[in-house]
Amino acid sequence: MTYDAIVIGAGAAALFFGALNKDKLNILMLERNDRVGKKLLTTGNGRCNYTNTKLDENTYNDKDFTSYMIEKYGYEAIVEKFKAMGIYPYMEEDRVYPMSLQASSVLDVLRYENDRNNIDIKTDVFVKSFHKDGDIFVLKDQNANIYKGKSLVIACGGAAMPKFGSDANLFKQIKELGISVIDTKPALVPYECDYKYLKHLDGLRVKAKLSLKKAGKIIKDDEDDVLFTKYGLSGPTVFQLSRYIKGKESAYKFSIDFFYTFTEEEMFTLLSERRKDIGHKSLDEFFIGLIHKRLIIPVIDRLGLAKETLAKDLSENNLHKIVKILKDFELDIIKNKGYGIGQISLGGVATEEINAKTMESKKVHGLYFIGEVIDIDGPCGGYNLSFAWLSAMAAYDDIRSRWKA
Ligand SMILES: Cc1cc2nc3c(=O)[nH]c(=O)nc-3n(C[C@H](O)[C@H](O)[C@H](O)COP(=O)(O)OP(=O)(O)OC[C@H]3O[C@@H](n4cnc5c(N)ncnc54)[C@H](O)[C@@H]3O)c2cc1C
Repeated sequence: MTYDAIVIGAGAAALFFGALNKDKLNILMLERNDRVGKKLLTTGNGRCNYTNTKLDENTYNDKDFTSYMIEKYGYEAIVEKFKAMGIYPYMEEDRVYPMSLQASSVLDVLRYENDRNNIDIKTDVFVKSFHKDGDIFVLKDQNANIYKGKSLVIACGGAAMPKFGSDANLFKQIKELGISVIDTKPALVPYECDYKYLKHLDGLRVKAKLSLKKAGKIIKDDEDDVLFTKYGLSGPTVFQLSRYIKGKESAYKFSIDFFYTFTEEEMFTLLSERRKDIGHKSLDEFFIGLIHKRLIIPVIDRLGLAKETLAKDLSENNLHKIVKILKDFELDIIKNKGYGIGQISLGGVATEEINAKTMESKKVHGLYFIGEVIDIDGPCGGYNLSFAWLSAMAAYDDIRSRWKA
């Protein structure tokens, strides 16, 4: 039998695509895992941050590509479609979760909706190859079974989570069709850093401004939690900045501003007053109450003075140096923690080669891409799942207009 459309993968984007099939097109979905939507269960720490009230094309790496779908569907369509399936939104600031606070609810409603829409889902089917024979796409799985479809939707994800099946295995096939694929790289990921006090600081979480620097210039910054680990830095700020680290990672540095609500002058004044008020204290005592206990030794080490030095003996220069240490605490980056740890991968099918209104390839008629397989990435906060839903809506609308009886 020849299907109206075959979807490769049954992750977030694919399942949402199937859930839209009110017109009951003849759709086959092929998933290599034994179950659908495995990765979806892990999203948002098991709570699934499925969208964001501030959805905006500027948050993505390619606003020209995302602006049409955000204008046409956007946050409203995502919330409305999920509400129609029984998922009511629960907001934590701008992040949107299901009221049940369970990612499994999102997966369950999607599964039921796919059943209701007669999507033919086959699990344990690893698509090994596909080609176009005339107007028909022909797919072959690991057991040489053949599947045929009038449209092909590739929803195989990126490279981010090999253990859940998303490992870029189809990128070679896609390239063989003459379609450009941008190299992948882990993102929303922690980083290994080179710093002698990491073991000492392991587990310390601070609210700070984290900047990403290259050749002394700030590329991007973010204010939120910074988490020290025994290997480097993690936490929301590191995840957000990871999207901006391109090429040689060791060319970048992180810089932590522990006092981002103070200007340098205000910080200098505060330290001067402190020197006056508690000048009789040695340095290891002087910092107590100002910074976290575990930061005291690393700060004194950077200052290069003995911990027994009395605060009243600190020169103006010393105070300026302390300001610099506390507001520009640099760490050298070694490398990211890799696929399987990072939440998404950068890269994927080049956006210039996809019609931004329909998700159809500009090179192969009838071939569509949805979700993370496309070279689109967004920050933490529901933006990446939002792109999966939005691209699925765009592709479904086009395919429906083509095959609806
Ligand atoms: C731990 C974690 C937490 C996250 N939390 C959030 C969050 O809260 N909010 C948010 O917006 N984003 C979050 N993300 C990102 C989000 O999960 C992804 O952006 C999203 O899942 C991408 O959807 P997708 O359908 O494109 O790809 P995937 O969900 O990766 O699905 C691809 C599917 O294709 C299958 N497949 C691959 N190759 C083949 C093949 N050859 N044959 C058959 N099947 C194949 C895979 O097995 C997989 O099931 C998180 C990611 C991780 C890893």
